This record gives sequence, C-alpha cells and structure tokens, in this order.
Amino acid sequence: MSADIIDGKAFAATVRAKVATHVATLKADHGITPGLAVILVGEDPASEVYVRNKGKQTAECGMNSFEHKLPADTSEADLLALIDQLNNDPAVHGILCQLPVPDHINQNLGINAIIPEKDVDGFNILNVGRLATGQTSMVPCTPLGCLMMLRDKHGSLSGLNAVVVGRSNIVGKPMAQLLLKDSCTVTIAHSRTKNIEALCRNADILVAAVGRPEMINADWIKPGATVIDVGINRIPAPERGDGKMRLVGDVDFASASEVAGAITPVPGGVGPMTIACLLANTVTACCRANGLPEPEGLTA
Ligand code: NDP
Repeated sequence: MSADIIDGKAFAATVRAKVATHVATLKADHGITPGLAVILVGEDPASEVYVRNKGKQTAECGMNSFEHKLPADTSEADLLALIDQLNNDPAVHGILCQLPVPDHINQNLGINAIIPEKDVDGFNILNVGRLATGQTSMVPCTPLGCLMMLRDKHGSLSGLNAVVVGRSNIVGKPMAQLLLKDSCTVTIAHSRTKNIEALCRNADILVAAVGRPEMINADWIKPGATVIDVGINRIPAPERGDGKMRLVGDVDFASASEVAGAITPVPGGVGPMTIACLLANTVTACCRANGLPEPEGLTA
C-alpha cells in the first residue's frame, strides 16, 4: 500500500485564506481589525524566525501584528506588566508569549497571566481545564491543526481508536482531549508505556509527538491507519555535504508510508498548520470578544 500524503502546506494555505476572508468581513461589516501581539524575550535564533513568520503571516491575512521584543534580562515583573497592558488593550485580541522564556522567568506565571480570552496558544490553565471539561476554550494550535487534518480526512472520527504518543502539555495531552471530544477511543503512550508497538498497531489514528527521529516505523502501524507526525527533528545529512542537516519527523516516513492509509510528511505536514491555527485562534478570539459568530471550520 502507498499512503495518501496529507499536504499540510496546502491545507494551511486554505486555513489562512479562510482567516483572511473572515478578517475582511470583520473590517467591512464591523470596522474591527483583529490584532495579535507576540512577545519574545531574549534572542533565541529559532524563536526569532518563528516570531518573524508569525508577524508576516498575520499581516498577510489583514490582521494587525504587534511585536514586543524584550531583552534576555527582562525581569519577570516587567514581562507581567507588559502582559497586563496587552490584556487591557482593546486592539489586541490574541497574545502569545514565545516559549521558552529565559530561566529566571517563571514560564507558568507568564502563561497564566494572559487572560484566557486572549490566550491564543491555549496554554492558560483555565483554557486547559475548559477543554478537558468540554467548555468553550482556546485550543493549542498544533493539536488543533492535527484535528483539522483528521476531520478533513475522515469526516467523523467517532469510534475510531486513536493512540497519541507523547504526553506534553503543548501537544500530547491537548491532542488526546480533542480526539476524545470527537468521540475517539483514546490512548496516550509515553516513555514508560509497555508494549508500545503493539498498542500503536491497534490505532486507526496514530499521532506521534515524541521528539525522537524516525522512532515509529512500519511495524508500529496498522495497515490503512492515518498517521500524523508532529515531530520536528534535525539530523545530520552528510549526503548534502559536510555539516549539513535535514528535518525528519518522529515517524520513519519511507517505511510507514508503505503501510499507512494516510500520512503527514515532515517537513510540509503538521508544521505549517501551527501558525495557520494561531491566526485562526486570533480571529476566533476577536469574534468572541465582540459577540460575533465564530468563523466556521476554524475551531474545535
Ligand atoms: P516533549 O519533549 O515535551 O514531550 C515528548 C513526549 O514524548 C513525552 O511525553 C515523552 O514521554 C515522550 N517520549 C519520549 N521518548 C519516548 C519513547 N522512547 N517512547 C515513547 N514516548 C516517548 O515534546 P513536545 O510534545 O513539545 O514535542 C514533540 C515533538 O513535536 C518534537 O519533535 C517537537 O519539535 C515537535 N513539535 C512540533 C510542532 C509543530 O508545529 N509541528 C509544535 C510543537 C512540537 P515522558 O513524558 O514519559 O517523558
């Protein structure tokens, strides 16, 4: 069998187009421009690239983008003061604090200082609790992107066996909650899970969010299953020249795609969906803040 490739790049473009259409309507009919504020503390090069991409894509969708770059030695109090200012700014509908923050800042304190209504990352403890209890919440972007692709592939997910490998707060746990909400039978696997291969082989939907290059191969996959590879791992690529690197997922794409029914590639799968869902969450937050209907197909 040769799996269908789920094209995250193309899917993300359709999500951004929906966002842009909704933004245009908000502007034309209500005079409202959604705004996303991104805070970056320090000079981590990878984070700077992400923040730049976020700003660019936010503007391309017609939204206001507010960037706040703070020096690495910014005090916790100054960060919290900025968050408080943005919480109270009516032009800002979404706030994202790029993680990780420097060690001297309590990350959870920062995350929970963002009011839940503007917490477009969905990491605030109130949003985590709301998601877990089936209440309206902001949903973390990467799992939301995975859910959108799965719904697109399967229509209804009801009754499917889903295994999520990884139990982080940003991917594994919210992913499992979303699949449960869509009536999958969900198992979360992690580094202590016994017989993990056999467990995964029972999955109609297998989500890999581990951070281990190509750990999951064809032997772990039920024939015909849908495999969502969240992993982004940089490994040496001597074939490309001295010191060159390439990106691979947590799934061994070459063997897995012979067994799976559908699979996301790395790069070009889940990755592009994350920023697209951040934009989607910002529009959703803006609509909720103004008592307007939420955009269809952009929320969980
Ligand atoms: P974490 O390191 O926070 O979590 C990894 C999880 O994998 C943990 O729960 C860990 O288990 C589990 N794990 C580790 N080793 C094994 C193993 N041998 N067998 C089974 N489970 C194992 O990672 P994240 O969730 O933040 O990210 C996961 C991957 O997704 C990374 O590659 C990251 O770069 C990528 N990512 C991609 C995004 C995107 O936009 N596409 C966004 C976010 C992340 P335990 O809890 O027991 O230690």
